[in-house]
Amino acid sequence: MNDNLSPNAEPINRLVQELNKLPGIGPKSAQRLAYYLLRAPEENAGLLADAIMSVKREITLCSICFNVTDSNPCRICRSDERDRTKVCIVEQPQDILALEHTRIYKGLYHVLHGAISPTEGVGTEDIRIKELLERLNGSPVDEVILATNTNLEGEQTALYLHRLISPLGIKVTRLARGLPFGTELEYADDVTLTRALEGRQEL
Ligand SMILES: [Zn+2]
Repeated sequence: MNDNLSPNAEPINRLVQELNKLPGIGPKSAQRLAYYLLRAPEENAGLLADAIMSVKREITLCSICFNVTDSNPCRICRSDERDRTKVCIVEQPQDILALEHTRIYKGLYHVLHGAISPTEGVGTEDIRIKELLERLNGSPVDEVILATNTNLEGEQTALYLHRLISPLGIKVTRLARGLPFGTELEYADDVTLTRALEGRQEL
């Protein structure tokens, strides 16, 4: 017996390490997943590896709204059925999924890819604000809906955007207070989100 050897073979250790880097996956879950994959048919493991790689290869950001997409412009920006006078501002692409799931919003989106956070060193130039202003300039947009998260960073970002956008003569609204403080949009349920959208108020 050799005590210097890790109980896992090296390739398993590597997989555990990589899985452990994923959000929400602790060392124990990483180990469980690694052993699951080890037992799974090779074909399934191949499909998973391939799905990961094709996301990296084929997904880009829409050049208009910065949503993740496999075609540019994205389906929402290309669609004839969307209301081009409304743009909903969100922090992350996943937030679009949550809002689309409610089926009540028919306008366009703009993904900031973050929120202003001085404590984490995220400034106004680190998220897609400049692109938003360029996009609004001379556009038919008459309402911008601020749907950033209801935590400190999201509120700061909303206030900052309000100051920038309202002088352009565009109505700026914020999702209603139905969302409890600290809510990340992506995890809000449909009923709460629908209420927040319908009850949005001008800032
Ligand atoms: Zn788009």
